[in-house]
Amino acid sequence: MTRKYYQVATACPQCGCSAVSHLSAEEIREKYGDVPNVEMECSECMFKYQEKMENACPEWAGECRLGQ
Ligand SMILES: [Zn+2]
Repeated sequence: MTRKYYQVATACPQCGCSAVSHLSAEEIREKYGDVPNVEMECSECMFKYQEKMENACPEWAGECRLGQ
């Protein structure tokens, strides 16, 4: 069975640097839990910000909702 990966894309509101990561469902749960917002730290300016999961990863947010 192949593992499914979700693309989580965010952009830093301070410097505009974007970050994209590919995480499996397990990794997303481990990292962010089942919360509506993901907490990110910008790798460029270290600014901490929150992004809505439905913006960062619409696919995950959609499946999350379907699973409930
Ligand atoms: Zn930044």
